[in-house]
Amino acid sequence: DVRVRFAPSPTGYLHIGGARTALFNYYFAKKNNGKFILRIEDTDTERLKEDSVSQIISSMKWLGMDWDEGPGIGGDYGPYFQSERRELYTKEIMRLVEEGKAYYCFCTEEDIQKEREEQKEKKLPFRYSGKCSHLSKEEVEKNLKEGKPYVIRIKIPWEGTTEVEDLIRGKVCVDNTQLDDYIIMKSNGMPTYNLACAVDDHMMKINYVIRAEEHLSNTPKQLHIYRALGYEIPQFAHISMILAPDRSKLSKRHGATSVEEFRERGYLKEAIVNYLTLLGWSPGEDEEIFSVEDTLKKFQLDKVSKTAAIYDVDKLTWMNSQYLRELNLDYIVRESIPYFIEKGLIEEDEVEEKYEYMKRVVEAVREKVKLLPEIAEASTYFFKDIEEYDEKGVKKRFKKEGVVELLEEGRETLRNAPAFDVETVEKEYRDLIDELGIKGGDIIHPTRLALSGKTVGPGLFDIISILGREECIKRMDKAIE
Ligand code: GLU
Repeated sequence: DVRVRFAPSPTGYLHIGGARTALFNYYFAKKNNGKFILRIEDTDTERLKEDSVSQIISSMKWLGMDWDEGPGIGGDYGPYFQSERRELYTKEIMRLVEEGKAYYCFCTEEDIQKEREEQKEKKLPFRYSGKCSHLSKEEVEKNLKEGKPYVIRIKIPWEGTTEVEDLIRGKVCVDNTQLDDYIIMKSNGMPTYNLACAVDDHMMKINYVIRAEEHLSNTPKQLHIYRALGYEIPQFAHISMILAPDRSKLSKRHGATSVEEFRERGYLKEAIVNYLTLLGWSPGEDEEIFSVEDTLKKFQLDKVSKTAAIYDVDKLTWMNSQYLRELNLDYIVRESIPYFIEKGLIEEDEVEEKYEYMKRVVEAVREKVKLLPEIAEASTYFFKDIEEYDEKGVKKRFKKEGVVELLEEGRETLRNAPAFDVETVEKEYRDLIDELGIKGGDIIHPTRLALSGKTVGPGLFDIISILGREECIKRMDKAIE
């Protein structure tokens, strides 16, 4: 059975890169009726950020990536926080030491620095000499008794190559001269990432390790741990990087990069998920808008792109506008309500009473917005009196000769319309236009300005029908006087 995991280090918010890794794991699990596990890699205490775990969890839940095992729900292979698994790591590390596959290293910073310089002189990249692997048992014991600080290193073969079979990239070979006896336990007794990760993936029975390309260089190191501990080796798949539009490394200066920021700015989770999925995968045939269900029908790991994906916020924003328009209206209304309240357009306790009205407003304005808060922003005049008419509009429309008379005609038409649904008011207005022998715009534009204070917006007859007869006449009165 497929078992995959997303293993974030809680060093901040959930970034789009992490979210995409999680998502691809999620797809792969669902696609194969497997299990998706969330594991928190919090052994590097210096880099931990408070609240990060709850942030990551809330972003994952918001995006709909529910995990089958992990924080909050547990599972058979817990705990799912590395900080709670220390004994397990220590046990495996000591096993390696006893079997002569790892060793105590008492080298001080100065010792290491000296080696570094010597090798630099010879123009070699740094590689720990392995000096402490030659210490006798007695020397080790003596040092331990004296309380000398130490780390534990794993023995790596000095020659040959290590091969990684990657499901996306194919065979990746690493020359072992690029590796050294690296540290698996730090001087504070904590395991390093590579050790903890390999031990956990084994103990949690992970059989597919799907992670970011930046970890590809760790994989050979982890393979040596697998072999030394006699673990079965999982399948690996490294997903390509996400780069900024200028192909540089994605960072803060490229704007919002965390899921939480996008949420706060009013992006819909459906748009984010769709967009992230396209960063490295595509259902083919230039399809751009597709749901999780669509993805699950076609998702294949070996179709994930080998080349870097380019991050483009404008595209995400465009997608968001598509989703705002297409998704279930009640859902969009519910998502908009907090913004209506925040802008003072409705009170919290009026939501129910004004729901149907809001729904009609949202239906009309959602055609032309990109982000959720813009729905409330574009709706002001449906809830409040017009305080100011659009300046440009006033010059062009209201000041024109004969406009007052036209507005009076329009007001009369609205007053006498047999019904106030969109079709009826439109028909009445069109008849009036014919009767007066004018161009539609001659009366439609000033009427729009009179009713909304704006020169652009949803269809005029939608506005009229939503506002209702009484309110329309009131506003026409005000514009005419
Ligand atoms: N904890 C690592 C990170 O946040 C992930 C390691 C992995 O997926 O193997 O980058």
